[in-house]
Amino acid sequence: MDFRTKLHRFTVVPSLTGELAILQQLAYNLWWTWEPEAVELFKRLDIELWQQTRHNPVEMLGILQQTFLEKLAADEGFMTHLKRVENRFREYLEEKTWFGRHYNGSKPMLTAYFSMEFGLHESVPTYSGGLGILAGDHLKSASDLGIPLVGVGLLYRQGYFRQYLNIEGWQQEIYPENDFYNLPLHLERTTDGKPLTIELDLAGRKVSAQLWRLQVGRVPLYLLDSNLEENAPEDREITAQLYSGDQDMRIRQEILLGIGGIRALKLLGIAPNICHMNEGHAAFLALERTRLLMEEYNLRFTEAMEAVRAGNIFTTHTPVDAGIDHFSPDLLEKYLGRYYRALGLSRDEFLALGRQNPKNPHEAFCMAVLALRLAAHANGVSQLHGEVSRKMWRNLWPELPEEQIPITSVTNGVHTKTWLSNEMAALLTRYLGNRWREDPTDQALWRRAVNIPDSELWRTHERCRERLVLFARRRLKEHLTKVGATAKEIATADEVLDPEVLTIGFARRFATYKRGTLLFRDLDRLARLLNDADRPVQIIFAGKAHPQDVEGKELIRQIFQHSLEKRFHNRIVFIEDYDMAVARHLVQGVDVWLNTPRRPFEASGTSGMKVAFNGGLNMSVLDGWWPEGYRGNNGWAIGNGEVYDDIDYQNEVESRAIYDLLEKEVIPLFYDRGTDNVPRGWLGCIKASLQTLCPVFSSERMVEEYTTRMYLESFSQWEKLSADRMALATELARWKGEMHRLWPQVRIGAVEAVATAEVPLGTLIPVTAELTLGAIAPEQLAVELYCGVLDSRGNIIGGELLPLAHAGQSAEGNQLFAGEIECRFCGRYGFMVRVMPCHTELGPVYDQGLMLWG
Ligand SMILES: *Cc1c(COP(=O)(O)O)cnc(C)c1O
Repeated sequence: MDFRTKLHRFTVVPSLTGELAILQQLAYNLWWTWEPEAVELFKRLDIELWQQTRHNPVEMLGILQQTFLEKLAADEGFMTHLKRVENRFREYLEEKTWFGRHYNGSKPMLTAYFSMEFGLHESVPTYSGGLGILAGDHLKSASDLGIPLVGVGLLYRQGYFRQYLNIEGWQQEIYPENDFYNLPLHLERTTDGKPLTIELDLAGRKVSAQLWRLQVGRVPLYLLDSNLEENAPEDREITAQLYSGDQDMRIRQEILLGIGGIRALKLLGIAPNICHMNEGHAAFLALERTRLLMEEYNLRFTEAMEAVRAGNIFTTHTPVDAGIDHFSPDLLEKYLGRYYRALGLSRDEFLALGRQNPKNPHEAFCMAVLALRLAAHANGVSQLHGEVSRKMWRNLWPELPEEQIPITSVTNGVHTKTWLSNEMAALLTRYLGNRWREDPTDQALWRRAVNIPDSELWRTHERCRERLVLFARRRLKEHLTKVGATAKEIATADEVLDPEVLTIGFARRFATYKRGTLLFRDLDRLARLLNDADRPVQIIFAGKAHPQDVEGKELIRQIFQHSLEKRFHNRIVFIEDYDMAVARHLVQGVDVWLNTPRRPFEASGTSGMKVAFNGGLNMSVLDGWWPEGYRGNNGWAIGNGEVYDDIDYQNEVESRAIYDLLEKEVIPLFYDRGTDNVPRGWLGCIKASLQTLCPVFSSERMVEEYTTRMYLESFSQWEKLSADRMALATELARWKGEMHRLWPQVRIGAVEAVATAEVPLGTLIPVTAELTLGAIAPEQLAVELYCGVLDSRGNIIGGELLPLAHAGQSAEGNQLFAGEIECRFCGRYGFMVRVMPCHTELGPVYDQGLMLWG
């Protein structure tokens, strides 16, 4: 007999009534995580339980005795505190927001933000690293700014693994089960109380998923969960773990996220007009959006796709091809064969959507290519990463010069209130006023950082460093206890690190390109640096390696082993199980954040931004966000952004650069103290860092930028194309078809410029181009000059586009187009003519194959 089928289940929840009921509401909205008063309130309930539950108030409320909770109602101090937090919470939900003020709340714009992971708080383990933290910070800022947005993701039964190191320092993974009833989750139900479920067809198997809501301030995040009894065992596993499993598992996860996510929103009655894909994992959503429009308006695939593309945004996060999902045609056939045929696509047409070269049958299906083809807006996550992405994907737009590849960049940012220490927040409020909380993007406000008295800024930072040291010791003790160390060995943990010493932090995923062991190339030199009697240095490490990444694990083992050597024992610590709580301690307490990726593999990086807000300084390779942040006086650059072919040589050069920088600049500046023991020069550097970095690298700036440059743009295109039952989208698809048919008739004939070999600056040079158009009317074309200064190899660099106007017909009946080049710079000029279709309502429209150069 299977006992489980006989099992009756029920859920027990604490019954908080009267004035205490609000505690429950607060615990179920992650707003509390970025409101220090609310955090203090929960801590106050029971500090030990707070730590044991990994800072999880829902679980705490479930464990605390009813009688204890009832007593609270009589505790006046507590109740006043509770009332204060409650008022803030209500104010927050009702206040006028940035979006409301600027866009009057009148636009029916609604964005759905899709991501494989969301890092919102350590108590909600639905993230692995940077990508998830960014998604979490995006939701928090969208809530603060009042952007109409919902999140969509998966709810993992085991999340990402927890890390501990064995006695040799070899990473061990454990996967604790999440108890959803102890997380701030609401199960979405029908009016008669049954869980709402969506359905998918996966290789002939019916798969259901239920929907959980996680409330992030004003923003709901919907998470899909396939762990249901009616599903086949292998499909219950779809939402078991984040980033584990093979390709077969991965494609099912991505189908659930993309296709299932759109179905979930529809079932909930939510109709987004914009879908933002955080990385390519969610790209299947574009297919489902298209399918829904086809069904609703009786459209063909190409027609519906025109509208859907306009309403899709894709953010790419990786500059390495190996970091992007590729699926074999067989796997796609297995899970999406029936699906794409129902869309009216042939196998070749479907596979072409995910191939750089649609005609290459050997190319695997790439999720980033799918996303790029099906989203009208795409971006990288720093300026440098934007450039790298345009280079990486230029084959998708073979007719465009690299700088015009339509992938822009929106540089990442961090959620200020999540990452700032309470001490630093109080200090900023004291000297900058309260407005940094609402609008951290105000430059003038951060300029006031000069007014913070040096001694106060220093004391604030010292307190955070001390907290970090105590935290590291506590974690080290826990590790020693776990691996069975003796009482004497455990006691030594109280002596490692020193709260007064220059502290360097290095924490990240242990992928090899991040070069976690660069500092260890010259052990003797490192030992001399760390153990200098007058000016010592200490380093705190943390980070996980992917369970299958043996090389990454080896790096961790090496660092751990070094930390056991006598000469490093008190100066190097590896903190296990890197998560948001460890990250918070680190970014708040370190003096220097060390970042050593191999350029240009770090798309952005965000930890250094968190450090900047907390009055730490960055020392980084000029990769990711740092070329935009570094100003010479606000931190340090390792090297000048050189890239050598010989990786080992590069490592050697850059590790030496790190030692030199530390010896000659960083350490002397830190220990150059006045009579009051305050390092004035160092504090000058911190203030420059606060002034230059804080107004720029917040997720408030980032989400404002996404809203104004992407969401609103995308929304107005979507409105145009979808109006009147998709009239313009349908017409656009027809028109593109016609253009493709007629395009072979277009020819560029003679192009003439009236110029002598040398012309003075500022001259206007008339240009005419003669075109044969066949059956296309002149007003159906955009004829442009692409011109600019030539480099030594005869390529136009940073060219600009000038429109040529239709200027009648030639004697032979060809169409003439004319314009003028203004010579605004000295040097060798070159120009080319290019022609593409021009739609009467939408202007120039580029489609692969519809562009001529002459
Ligand atoms: C901020 C953060 C990251 C991002 O790390 P980068 O190396 O800067 O990209 C990863 N993990 C955690 C836990 C973080 O808090």
